[in-house]
Amino acid sequence: MKLTKLEIKGFKSFGDKITINFNEGVTAIVGPNGCGKSNVVDAIRWVLGEQSTKTLRSEKMENIIFNGTKNRKPANLAEVSLTFNNNKNILPTEFTTVTITRKLYRTGESEYRLNDVKCRLKDITDLFLDTGIGADTYSIIELKMIDEIIANKDNSRRALFEEASGISKYKVRKKQTLSKLKDTEADLSRVDDLLYEIT
Ligand code: ATP
Repeated sequence: MKLTKLEIKGFKSFGDKITINFNEGVTAIVGPNGCGKSNVVDAIRWVLGEQSTKTLRSEKMENIIFNGTKNRKPANLAEVSLTFNNNKNILPTEFTTVTITRKLYRTGESEYRLNDVKCRLKDITDLFLDTGIGADTYSIIELKMIDEIIANKDNSRRALFEEASGISKYKVRKKQTLSKLKDTEADLSRVDDLLYEIT
């Protein structure tokens, strides 16, 4: 699986649409201070579903929308798309090219898309589970994360190994199933109450 393309429009410093093609041999993005290198990484994190504004270096989510400049109006919409080549079927889908998109309007409305079809954030996180790619996995490692891994804060090293060995997906499913069981138990208890009242 390979990251092949990143498209950004109206996100942070990118008012105009930009397309970055990760062709063979591209290994780094360089540029002067403040030109937007970290914003490119933020865009990748964001489209993968990042919900933490702190991680996105922003006070509130709305601030990730292009704020305008002296000569340009602020944007009303931030939109990021990330495209992967899935010819080895590492992502559990029949598509050989997978594009995920996230949009956020200034009104607060937001939207996720998978190959241009509206979907839930859960569809995107499920798709990337155990691939190492995701908002909170090891595909993007910042300096602060290295400190956390060394200090093993919140058992973070274990979480990395679990993701790499492919068991995080089962842990997520277990959590979802336990939550459903809890709801069902609550429903059953309600049914018992009703039966008691009726009889
Ligand atoms: P350095 O090398 O110093 O770390 P960098 O190339 O990583 O810099 P970024 O941190 O990606 O730079 O970009 C910072 C720039 O992005 C700042 O000029 C900031 O004003 C701009 N910026 C951030 N959010 C927005 C926004 N919502 N609208 C417009 N510009 C923004």
